Amino acid sequence: MPGGARRYFAGMHSPDVIVVGGGIVGAAAAERLARGGAKVTLLERGRIGGEASWAAAGLLTPVHPWRHPETLLRLEAESLRMWPEAAARVADAGFDLELRRTGLLALVESDDDARECDVRLAWLRGHGERCERLDAAALRAAEPVVAASVRGALHLPDLMQIRNHRAAPGFAEAARRAGAAVVEGCGVRALAESAGRVTGVVTDDGATLAAGEVVLAAGAWTGALLGASCPPALRTVPCRGQMVLYRTAPGTVRHMILSSGDYLVPRSDGRVLAGSTVEWVGFDAATTAPGIAGIRAAAARMVPSLAGADVEMSWAGLRPGSPDELPSIGRVRPGLVAATGHFRSGIMLAPVTAELVADIVEGRGAAEIARPFDPLR
Ligand SMILES: Cc1cc2nc3c(=O)[nH]c(=O)nc-3n(C[C@H](O)[C@H](O)[C@H](O)COP(=O)(O)OP(=O)(O)OC[C@H]3O[C@@H](n4cnc5c(N)ncnc54)[C@H](O)[C@@H]3O)c2cc1C
Repeated sequence: MPGGARRYFAGMHSPDVIVVGGGIVGAAAAERLARGGAKVTLLERGRIGGEASWAAAGLLTPVHPWRHPETLLRLEAESLRMWPEAAARVADAGFDLELRRTGLLALVESDDDARECDVRLAWLRGHGERCERLDAAALRAAEPVVAASVRGALHLPDLMQIRNHRAAPGFAEAARRAGAAVVEGCGVRALAESAGRVTGVVTDDGATLAAGEVVLAAGAWTGALLGASCPPALRTVPCRGQMVLYRTAPGTVRHMILSSGDYLVPRSDGRVLAGSTVEWVGFDAATTAPGIAGIRAAAARMVPSLAGADVEMSWAGLRPGSPDELPSIGRVRPGLVAATGHFRSGIMLAPVTAELVADIVEGRGAAEIARPFDPLR
């Protein structure tokens, strides 16, 4: 931060709330709290939305919902309900998230897939999800570029996506317009505490900024920031995900496409994202030759024309994993609220997380839907 945190904060009145971490989770929480009338300061050590929230694919659906516990599915459903309004507020702040209902095709490529497809179909219908089974001809009509060897697909027409790289900057701008201070290049190195209460933060250059509440939304870095006093659920673990971005003619790929753990996400401008790896390799956000080769092979298996398409770029990001793969949203101790550990679903879960953080900071207490995600569980 030019001039350092000390100079920036000199003469500033203490905010009601400091949010640490300007990914989608912190930015959405800052926006919600500022909209509710709190005096909010959002501190980001790098640039807003520069980590996992930038690196993600923007699917507003779990990759494998049938693997999620019911408690998490309820949280996801609530967030999906909130997304259209959240995207409209972000659009008012000048960031078009291109929220689109492109639907998803889960490909059936083998006998195992065909058997699993029946189970998934029953599960999805049981959860009120619109879905249908497509045979090979219907799949080809819906998505002509899919490989000829694919036998069919499960079609989920209601699933949405967003241009996630615009989301954290968009929420931060909406927060700023609602009166929040948004500070980039300002890392927090410790919490300030007095008599068992968190009273603010100490920035990387030694400045102390006091606040009534601190919201910790530092993604994969949350556990490291809490150090020895970290409750088990908040011991965040980075999980690397690599991505490849293709450039194609708009409309080449129409749906999000899923094949086992691999997926394609088409943007309206013709770009197609392909992902992703799930790697537990510490804080290493570098791409690897085998990782990128694996993603490209899977992409070409799903849509053969991608083998010859231009690759615009590839990257990796660090998902905030947690020991039980569930997010933590709630009070940690007096003056400290956590919103982290969203692992593979933080883009989807940002609006509901912001709302649940506001419940606690504004004194309504943890909503029933948030209880399974208590940081002290
Ligand atoms: C390849 C990939 C694909 C994904 N695809 C999807 C998807 O399709 N859908 C979905 O819902 N999710 C997806 N995810 C997961 C999603 O990206 C994350 O769950 C989400 O971005 C987490 O948001 P966050 O704000 O908690 O973390 P981050 O975006 O990582 O933000 C945390 C921020 O805190 C800052 N910070 C850390 N420490 C400090 C400190 N001490 N002081 C100040 N600031 C600090 C960091 O600089 C960072 O900007 C994907 C992730 C990856 C990597």
